[in-house]
Amino acid sequence: MSIKALQNYSPNFSTRRRNPKKIKYIVYHYTGMRSESKAVKRLTDDNSNVSCHYFIKRNGQIIIMVPELYESWHAGKSKWKKDISLNKNSIGIEISNKGHGFGYQNYSRKQISSLIKLSRYLIKKYKIKKSNILGHSDIAFERKKDPGEKFPWSYLSNKKIGIWHNIEEKKIKKIRKKKISNIEILKFIRHINKIGYFTKNLNNNKKLKLVKSFQRRYRQKLINGKIDRECLIIAEKLSKLY
Ligand SMILES: [Zn+2]
Repeated sequence: MSIKALQNYSPNFSTRRRNPKKIKYIVYHYTGMRSESKAVKRLTDDNSNVSCHYFIKRNGQIIIMVPELYESWHAGKSKWKKDISLNKNSIGIEISNKGHGFGYQNYSRKQISSLIKLSRYLIKKYKIKKSNILGHSDIAFERKKDPGEKFPWSYLSNKKIGIWHNIEEKKIKKIRKKKISNIEILKFIRHINKIGYFTKNLNNNKKLKLVKSFQRRYRQKLINGKIDRECLIIAEKLSKLY
């Protein structure tokens, strides 16, 4: 099995080949630039020092930029579980979208359908665990918001890509406003640490960003950075699935 892709190689990669066994994560991104052509240009520009393995255009076309067995430079400073700097053991996929800075768009149907095909291909090839399919904001929540709250994590989980909590929104909405205790806040932090988020040395600013990142992925209708009972229930459920 192979994937149909255009080629536009980036000079930004580590030249030492890696052992395929090292590849254990897939990281999704949005490009976050004014135009698609600018994003392609930047990711293939000698001076930018950034790249990805695959780029998915608005029309669904996939571009290969770095061959899988070389490390591409998509994650930057990042942490997940016990791993730091995830470039070395991940495949990075950039999805064209203006992002929060320039008018955040819905992902196109064609993009999502290509993303599913590509992800299935990679999951099979490298035996990637469901729990190791991540967004950039999961692993770099202090700096990053991508792929953001419009990314269809729930839909992808129906296609066996990534983990979802399956808690129905209707049932839980009522308790969103209920306050939770300090002990429950600590429980929430413990649950999401178990999932993989880096929860050490949290000051208020970092905590806000961490909670927003959690919400962008698992409670996409309300991103306010506040730990409420809905967040707690979702985190509790997830901690059993990861
Ligand atoms: Zn990113």
